[in-house]
Amino acid sequence: MIDVAIVGAGPAGLSAAIELRRRGVGRVVVFERELFAGGIPRHSAHLGYGARDMHRITTGPRYAALLTRRAEKAGVEIEVGRSVTDFAQLSARAVLLATGVRERPRSARLVPGDRPAGVLTTGSLQQFATLHHQRVGNRAVVVGAEHVSFSAVLTLAHTGCRVAAMVTALPHHQTYPLLRLATAGRHRVPIHTGVDIAEIVGRTRVEAVVLTDGRRIACDTVVFTGDWIPDHELARAGGLPMLLVAKAPIVDASWHTQQQGVFAIGNLIHPAETADVCALDGRAVAEHVIDWLTVGSWPAAVAAVEVAAPIQWAATSAIGVTFRVDEFVTGSVAASNGSELLHQTKRKKWIPNRAYHLPRLRDCRQLTFKR
Ligand SMILES: Cc1cc2nc3c(=O)[nH]c(=O)nc-3n(C[C@H](O)[C@H](O)[C@H](O)COP(=O)(O)OP(=O)(O)OC[C@H]3O[C@@H](n4cnc5c(N)ncnc54)[C@H](O)[C@@H]3O)c2cc1C
Repeated sequence: MIDVAIVGAGPAGLSAAIELRRRGVGRVVVFERELFAGGIPRHSAHLGYGARDMHRITTGPRYAALLTRRAEKAGVEIEVGRSVTDFAQLSARAVLLATGVRERPRSARLVPGDRPAGVLTTGSLQQFATLHHQRVGNRAVVVGAEHVSFSAVLTLAHTGCRVAAMVTALPHHQTYPLLRLATAGRHRVPIHTGVDIAEIVGRTRVEAVVLTDGRRIACDTVVFTGDWIPDHELARAGGLPMLLVAKAPIVDASWHTQQQGVFAIGNLIHPAETADVCALDGRAVAEHVIDWLTVGSWPAAVAAVEVAAPIQWAATSAIGVTFRVDEFVTGSVAASNGSELLHQTKRKKWIPNRAYHLPRLRDCRQLTFKR
């Protein structure tokens, strides 16, 4: 019998598995649908991984390899090429879902137009570029202007593809000025704000995009970036209730879901944090999984943190209560347990598509925003 079955061998799943074994749990098996363990970092060749969990900065592939080696050394069984489609496949005393996140592709964003080749997400772009060393095109339009969108600009530049423009429906880009400068600035990429893609043109290969303000940009590649959605199909098939906007399974502050014996961590529950935060989720959940295995207690009620606009959603991460706003807005955020104020931030500017964290708070049930 498996003690803990973990679905997903990304930073969250592998870190949980290592910690569970370190704390003496007998049989810990990680199921991974890809042929190699490591999750998204495996595809992400740039520096920027490991700060908070490994206390060093390394590249995605090195970080993924290090975590995988540590898991193997700790006696974790990793079954690659195993896609879990049903909880019934997992005969285990506890189940830990760590299936991560993906970007909404063109179809989910309801973008009209032809259906030519050359339409990607950053995830597929990185697979072509990092894993298969393929050139993707000559002239691209990047849709989105959050952190990952600027990472896509760099990846495209490395493959020899010029970026004609970035396009965001929001009034400003959403990344740090320095990151913008080092990517779009360095490669002289214009950022068109307040517009969206109205149409993709091209019979067999992309020929152009038309923007909602009527401008037409010639290109042979379109990369849809960010706009994260959890890989939640397995959780939904298992009947777990979801946060409405984030589309993530509802968990409490100890990552219990509403189904006894099933925990959820990583970007599956907070789309999308950095890899180190997901790895720290993995380490922190181990204690609660072990409580379930040894004491067998489960909370009577598992509820989401309630939020009000402009806060989109909030969820637990290892470093606190993580949340997003859906507009550029100035004000302060207050956390309460429904009756008492637990924490209040300073008044400041908040930016959509950015990760924000409040400290870990006992019994945080509600976030409100004061403009
Ligand atoms: C372009 C890009 C750049 C990034 N840059 C950085 C950076 O510089 N620094 C940083 O810290 N973070 C970065 N990130 C974010 C980082 O990659 C994620 O935070 C991290 O990978 C999330 O870890 P996770 O374990 O939750 O999920 P993932 O890494 O997504 O792992 C989930 C795993 O679950 C598997 N899986 C899913 N469903 C199933 C199933 N049903 N059965 C079996 N297996 C399944 C998937 O194949 C995957 O391997 C970047 C992300 C992207 C896309």
